[in-house]
Amino acid sequence: MIVVLKHGVPEEKRAQLIAWLQGLGLRIHISDGEFQTVLGLVGDTSRVDIDLVESLDIVDSVKRVSEPFKMCNRKFHPESLVVEVGDVKVGAGNFVMIAGPCSVESEEQIVTVAKAVKAAGATLMRGGAFKPRTSPYDFAGLKAEGLELLKIARAETGLPIVTELMNINDLPLFEDVDVIQIGARNMQNFDLLRELGSVDKPILLKRGLANTLKELLMSAEYIMASGNERVMLCERGIRTFSDYTRNTLDLSAVPMLRELTHLPIIVDPSHATGIARLVPPMALAATAAGADGLIIEVHNDPIHALCDGAQSLRPEEFAALAEKVRAVREAIR
Ligand code: PEP
Ligand code: MN
Repeated sequence: MIVVLKHGVPEEKRAQLIAWLQGLGLRIHISDGEFQTVLGLVGDTSRVDIDLVESLDIVDSVKRVSEPFKMCNRKFHPESLVVEVGDVKVGAGNFVMIAGPCSVESEEQIVTVAKAVKAAGATLMRGGAFKPRTSPYDFAGLKAEGLELLKIARAETGLPIVTELMNINDLPLFEDVDVIQIGARNMQNFDLLRELGSVDKPILLKRGLANTLKELLMSAEYIMASGNERVMLCERGIRTFSDYTRNTLDLSAVPMLRELTHLPIIVDPSHATGIARLVPPMALAATAAGADGLIIEVHNDPIHALCDGAQSLRPEEFAALAEKVRAVREAIR
C-alpha cells in the first residue's frame, strides 16, 4: 500500500501518521520527492483501514500496490534512484560505461585494459576474480589474488571495481570492492541475496538465464527488504531458441523495467550475444532503448583470453563503440 501525502505537510503531523502506521506492525518506506512524499507500507496491510487513512487532512491519496515487489516498485519511489559509486552516479539520466575483461588474468592484463577503457570513457571497471564456469575443468578465476590485482588497476586508473561474488563466505575478501556483482546463476540464491542486505555497497544484480522480470524484481526485493536499497539491475540475455547467439538480449526489458521500478537498468550485450561483432549494435540498441548503462567485456588479447574471448572487444573497438554510444545518447536526449 502507498500513502501519498499532500504537499507541504507539517513535519509533526507526518511523524504522527508514520508512528501510528508503525504501531500497526508495518515498515514505512519514505520517498521524499521534489513534488510529493510517498509512504510505502511494507508488511501485512490488511488491517489498515484505507478509508480512514484517506480521510486524514494530510493525505492526498492511498492505493494498494498489487505487485508482490514493494521496495523496488516505482509506485513506492516515483523518482528514479541514483546509485553512487564514489564520484560515479548511475541512474536518473546518469549513464555509466562499465568495461573490462571477463576474468582478471594478470596484473599486466588488468592494468592495460583498465587504462584503455578509462581513456575511452568507461567510468567503472569490471573483471571477474571468482568465475562461475559451466565446466569444473575451466579457469575459475584468480580468486583472492584477482581481487588484489583489481585494486592495483584501480590505484593506477581511479576506476572503481565491479566484480562478482559467488559465495557469501568470500564476502570478507570483498571489503574493498566498490560494486558487488551477483551473476545470472546466483540470481535466485536467496540466502546470498539476504546476506547482501547488510552490505554497505551497491549491488549489480544480473537477470537469470531463464528468469522473468518479476523474478528479477523479487530478487532485488530480497536485497532491499534485508536492508540494502542500492541495487542496479542488469539484463544480460535470456535462454530462448536462439541458435546463432549465446542468448537472446531482451531489450524490451529496459522500458518495461523502467515502468515497474526506480532502480537503474544496465545492459550486458557481451553475455547476451557471445559474439564480439554483435556487441556494438546491441550496445547501441540498448542505449537507444533507454538503459542507464552498459557492461561490456574488453580484452587486450581476446584470442588468448582465459574466458569469453569470443565476445570480448579489443580496446580500440571499445573506444569506437563508446564514441557511438555518446552519439546515440545525444540523439535521444
Ligand atoms: C560475468 O559478467 O562475468 C558473468 C559471468 O555474467 P553472467 O552472470 O551474466 O553470465
Ligand atoms: Mn564473461
